[in-house]
Amino acid sequence: MNFRQAKWDEPIIFELGSSGRRGFIVPDVEDEIRKVLGEIKIPEEILRKDPPNLPELSEVEVARHFIRLSEMSYGIDSGPVPLGSCTMKYNPKLMLKYIEDPRITLLHPLQDEETVQGILEIMYYLQRWLANIVGMDLCTLHPAAGAQGELTGVITIRRYHDLKGQEHKDEIIVPDSAHGTNPASASMGGFKVVEIPTSPDGNVDLEALEAAISDRTAGLMLTNPSTLGLFEENILTIAELVHKVDGLLYYDGANLNGIMGYVRPGDMGFDIAHINIHKTFSSPHGGGGPGAGPVCFKNKTVKGDIRLGDIIPGPIVVKDRNGNYKIQMPKYAPGRLRAFTANVGPLVWGFIYILALGPQGLKEVTETAVLNTNYFMKFLEKLGAKGYTLTHGQERFRKHETVLSAEPLKKETGVTAEDVAKGLLDRGFYAPTIYFPLIVPEALMIEFTETETKENLEAYARALKEIEDEARKEPSKAKMRPLNTSVRRIDNVKANHPRSVTPSWRVKVLRDKGLLGALR
Ligand SMILES: *Cc1c(COP(=O)(O)O)cnc(C)c1O
Repeated sequence: MNFRQAKWDEPIIFELGSSGRRGFIVPDVEDEIRKVLGEIKIPEEILRKDPPNLPELSEVEVARHFIRLSEMSYGIDSGPVPLGSCTMKYNPKLMLKYIEDPRITLLHPLQDEETVQGILEIMYYLQRWLANIVGMDLCTLHPAAGAQGELTGVITIRRYHDLKGQEHKDEIIVPDSAHGTNPASASMGGFKVVEIPTSPDGNVDLEALEAAISDRTAGLMLTNPSTLGLFEENILTIAELVHKVDGLLYYDGANLNGIMGYVRPGDMGFDIAHINIHKTFSSPHGGGGPGAGPVCFKNKTVKGDIRLGDIIPGPIVVKDRNGNYKIQMPKYAPGRLRAFTANVGPLVWGFIYILALGPQGLKEVTETAVLNTNYFMKFLEKLGAKGYTLTHGQERFRKHETVLSAEPLKKETGVTAEDVAKGLLDRGFYAPTIYFPLIVPEALMIEFTETETKENLEAYARALKEIEDEARKEPSKAKMRPLNTSVRRIDNVKANHPRSVTPSWRVKVLRDKGLLGALR
């Protein structure tokens, strides 16, 4: 790969430039302010004695500094980011043209509905398309992320049972292969989480499920395909078992590119499903950027004439008889999850993505994502890699992702999944998700998505093989990596503290310059 290998002693901006150097000439703003506000008197005691110690650089130095930093970073525009369960696909740049349109960016959530009919129309159609993709009846675009979508669903499940006088239903069943947010959401929603094991074939252990289901079962949360990348073959039986005790089935649809256009959660028996726009529908994620986790529902009867659509804790965009769009809170909603209607930016992104691809394009997304996973696995096998294995359903076809276990490599050489991840960084690749799902020892959870080329899949497999070979020949070197990155191995515990990621020599430079505070 060809991203920039940063040197260990890259300067920070405070080490560049020279005293008095300027990038441009600042107009006398104080004079302007004085004209508007009159003389400003800042009390003497709060005026600082010395000027702040700011970097003093020419414009070209500033530009080069930040471009260099950007080249040290690794993102989806530098190479593959095969983080399993995260669906890090390429974010088409054309979309920016639309979401940066002032007609979108200048909207304010408190504007009157009649002045925002355009965006409401977009949201109205997006609701319908998403509901259609997952086989449900209606949809709210309210949640800001997948996890918030889950909480929306879990609160709805609570509301459903409360309205039916079924307060005793206090358990939600979650398989042990679930994404960590599932048990967390169930627990935040006030439920007891009942964990059920996965069979060696990768399906839910049906006997354990039957034993876990009782009158107390409020619902079940499931990802299908599971985080192992395996399609749950007994989903219809599972749905029947849960529905028999009036439990609701929640579908974690964060990564729809394993099934989109082929099967629909609604047809598998699910009642509620969330979707991650910032995964399947290509808006960027990570870095704390805004996400969107719409939730779709079957409009099933709760009680009397109350339907599921009447109890969702989030607004829905509706169209009235005169063709006007309105934001409507469901009649029996137990409140809302956040102040405003939705994160419009990623939603517009998802809307255009769906519009651009059309139904056939969405199917091809799935085909390519699934093909990429399975091609990569076959290629790795063909290279003769023996250090990585599958722990569940060895013979089965994977969907959008796969989980390899580096346990054989660890047993043979002492080199762990973490060392493999560091070895990948050294070879110019992004590491996969590691040590998740918890049921796979030394897990490497790999998801290329549909956007990677055959060459990249092969290069990644070769890098894994190379790491395996190095582990046998020079295990101590394999455990020392990364050797070529700007920051080498960091202390996993201390890394949770931002200051400790800074190398100590740099802390010293900053301390000498009296700038340590600038880091915090
Ligand atoms: C990413 C993900 C989530 C959580 O989504 P966020 O937007 O990160 O909150 C839930 N389930 C699965 C399977 C995921 O991959």
